[in-house]
Amino acid sequence: MDSSDDESGEEYLFKIVIIGDSAVGKSNLLTRYARNEFNLHSKATIGVEFQTQTLEIDGKEVKAQIWDTAGQERFRAVTSAYYRGAFGALVVYDITRRTTFDSIPRWLDELKTHSDTTVARMLVGNKCDLDNIRAVSVEEGKSLAESEGMFFMETSALDATNVNKAFEMVIREIYNSVS
Ligand code: GDP
Ligand code: MG
Repeated sequence: MDSSDDESGEEYLFKIVIIGDSAVGKSNLLTRYARNEFNLHSKATIGVEFQTQTLEIDGKEVKAQIWDTAGQERFRAVTSAYYRGAFGALVVYDITRRTTFDSIPRWLDELKTHSDTTVARMLVGNKCDLDNIRAVSVEEGKSLAESEGMFFMETSALDATNVNKAFEMVIREIYNSVS
């Protein structure tokens, strides 16, 4: 986090990472939040390092620098540099693919291993627009989040359900913990 003064008052910059198995919708959650865009055929190889969103909280400018993997998660090779300095994390699974939910404990371990500070964490069950082919219940998601002391939300990057909410809850939680 950086905090500096200028004529408009304090400024904050928080790094947030998005993690989870391949194809759960990480990149689309970020483009939905940062650009209000969705891509049905997004390729794992297309990906910028991060996008920045600015919010105003308590009259202060808060910048969230949100990092997306460039598809390295396929090879289980997300590097420690990716996690370095992160104050928040969205840990994502796909509600239609149970294997992606089963991977969550592994992602949480990896996050813990690589972070040197308390990280505001949100468990995200994405693709809730596909309720008809759901493989993980809302209750299961909730209960895992509770046992891990994380926030929980189901989202859809496709129809935008809860996407802004999920990011903003994490950003506010970080803000509250440092201000
Ligand atoms: P990533 O590998 O985790 O970054 O996943 P992507 O964002 O590339 O998405 C993988 C695939 O899932 C793409 O075909 C997306 O169009 C699709 N997808 C992502 N989010 C959603 C969603 O909320 N609903 C539905 N139905 N499809 C989604
Ligand atoms: Mg991606």
